[in-house]
Amino acid sequence: MKFHIIILGCQMNYADSARIKSVLTNCWFSYTENEQEADIIIFDTCSVRQKSEDKITGKLKEIKPNQKVWITGCMIQHNLRNQKLKDENKKVPELLKKGNFLWAIQTKAPEIIWLTSDEINTFNTQDSTSKTVWINHAFNPLFHKLTQKRSNIELFFRIDDTGFLPLILNKIGYKVKYDEEIINEYINIIPEWFNTSMNNHNKTAYIPISTGCNQFCSYCIVPYARGLEKHLPIEQIVQEAKQHLLHGVKEIVLLGQIVNKHPQFVEILKEILKLEGLERLRYTSPYPNFYTPEVLALHQSEPKLCPHIHIPFQSGSDAVLKAMYRGYTANQAKTFINNIRSLKRSISITTDIIVGFPDETEEDFLQTLDLVRYGKFDMIYIGIYSPRPGTLAHKNLKDNIDRKTKRDRRNRLNDLLKDLSTQNNSEEIGQTRTMIVDQINEDWIYGYTDNMKQIIIKSDTQPAIGSIINIKVTDGIPFKLYWEIA
Ligand code: SF4
Repeated sequence: MKFHIIILGCQMNYADSARIKSVLTNCWFSYTENEQEADIIIFDTCSVRQKSEDKITGKLKEIKPNQKVWITGCMIQHNLRNQKLKDENKKVPELLKKGNFLWAIQTKAPEIIWLTSDEINTFNTQDSTSKTVWINHAFNPLFHKLTQKRSNIELFFRIDDTGFLPLILNKIGYKVKYDEEIINEYINIIPEWFNTSMNNHNKTAYIPISTGCNQFCSYCIVPYARGLEKHLPIEQIVQEAKQHLLHGVKEIVLLGQIVNKHPQFVEILKEILKLEGLERLRYTSPYPNFYTPEVLALHQSEPKLCPHIHIPFQSGSDAVLKAMYRGYTANQAKTFINNIRSLKRSISITTDIIVGFPDETEEDFLQTLDLVRYGKFDMIYIGIYSPRPGTLAHKNLKDNIDRKTKRDRRNRLNDLLKDLSTQNNSEEIGQTRTMIVDQINEDWIYGYTDNMKQIIIKSDTQPAIGSIINIKVTDGIPFKLYWEIA
């Protein structure tokens, strides 16, 4: 049986997909790059933004009727946590036939126990040393609707349950051979090498160092979708990095919802920086409150640690930051920016900002513009606030900023960003940097620098895709730089 994975979402999904591939290829399935020849298409979804959930419906239409569909990712976990089991008793048997499952696994002696929703509410493991893992009680309205429309949807599974896939698959009729040794929790799965790059080249690998989040920012679905924070052991992270580098990867990106909260974050950076073959190390996303001076010092002393920090500030208003439960003030954000700017190496800073959060006044928004001017950000990923069901903001705050105002604030922020980007990029003219070649189109070469700026070069010589070359900036426009090969 051949499977293909379609990744709908963020960088974290690429790391998840590598783990799915590892578990399945260890139990009889083979991976194919070609979607058309796959027997099973696995959707690895994201639910941080509503847009990603919408994408799946469109993409499902492209799947051939004889191809089975499995769906996993944040979207599943988020929806599982929102469902009301007690109201769904009657639908269970019908949906079970369609591949929606209701079971528990006891980890000490792995065995699937089928349960009705009544039994789920009262189930207690008999053995107190065995942990019970709940799996795939996936019969919420969204999944119900999808399975009604697409009879080839066979399975929903939580990313957290990837390690239990062999058991699940046996239960639904696949004759899967597996070694009980490989049945483990997500955090212990050693991924096989997989092209986890989100680019056209395959020289970048994404490695999760932690999963989940304990911060519970009021607008965010992640703690519900991915669960509470867990940290991967440093040995496993370094081992995974070595494996990627052996396969020719040049750039490693460490991932975590709050990546710099890993208790051994500095040690992880130092260990990976020592590895042979590494040319660039990046990480995302850090949180202002968890930066240590040691990490900033590494940005100054270690040329391979990229001179770029993507740090989500979300707002420049203390009132909005408080309502978001971000745990810092605008002044603290500015102090943090000062700490970066005081390094003896120029660091590019990018951020995320949400506009139109509940009760955001014009004054609040002006304070955000003030923070943005202060930070001179190179890029801002602007989100227009929309409530995500299940979050505290959805439950407690009224989405009371009208669409016109939200769009107006987004546009004004975008205008400011364009000015800052033009100014920052013009300061780059004459500098020499390195670039990863991502795409070549006739005599135009596209890529990005070590400080994560998009670049375009017109050149007669064509370097290999994925190679790292030295370049000299010749011109700058908003969001893009023009360079020549140095
Ligand atoms: S830090 Fe806040 S925004 Fe980031 S993942 Fe955690 S809860 Fe979400």
